[in-house]
Amino acid sequence: MLGKMTWPEVKQRLTESSIAIVPVGSTEQHGPALPLDNDHFTALQFAKMAADRLWKKVKVVVTPPICFGYSPHHMGFKGTITLRETTLTDTIYDVCKSLDAHGFKNIIILNGHGGNSTAIATALHQLHGQTNAKVFHIDWWTLASDKILEVATRPVYHACDMETSVSWYLGQRVLEDKLVDEPGKSLVPGYVEPDLFAPSPKASMMYSMTDITKSGVVGYARKATKEKGKLIAEVVLERFVKFIEKLVNSK
Ligand SMILES: [Zn+2]
Repeated sequence: MLGKMTWPEVKQRLTESSIAIVPVGSTEQHGPALPLDNDHFTALQFAKMAADRLWKKVKVVVTPPICFGYSPHHMGFKGTITLRETTLTDTIYDVCKSLDAHGFKNIIILNGHGGNSTAIATALHQLHGQTNAKVFHIDWWTLASDKILEVATRPVYHACDMETSVSWYLGQRVLEDKLVDEPGKSLVPGYVEPDLFAPSPKASMMYSMTDITKSGVVGYARKATKEKGKLIAEVVLERFVKFIEKLVNSK
């Protein structure tokens, strides 16, 4: 954990390895059963667990998480804190430029919140040609889409069966008696569906979560179990670790 290291320790570490993981999440509502910190909690847990598993092979540095994300669509629910999209892009840009200046050669933005993906992609566009480091962007759920489709109940969207199960397995606070099922409302049936895995045809639009859910949940959170979470999270971890091993081997 970079935040717990001294600067001479970071200097020493850079002689052994130059891979940094930057966990990014949000502080936003996750229905009545999951806390607001969920998306940076999961990104940080995945980063720390991957770093632990890689320790004997490569000593990866995990930076402090970026705890606020782009969440204006969740502002109808108390406690949500959002950045402007440009602020998030600028933050990611500045964090990557700093790590690059110190000599990190591979920087992995590990994202825990879908709403951040565009801002992260924009930061990567802006960083192109501006760093010696290679900068990667991974939304953790895309590492295990096949496993998610196999074990989770759809819609897979927000504070749903999939997200609750994974968070639970990773050690999140889950208020079991507050879990609810709310599949969410289609705004244009068959086109604008609240489901990460909705089939074609698709159209998209920006809307508020209050337009599609009363509880803040979109999905069947009552179907969540730690066991299901383990099946998904272990695939995420295995493939994330493999990705980092490939970076080490491609030096
Ligand atoms: Zn989330």
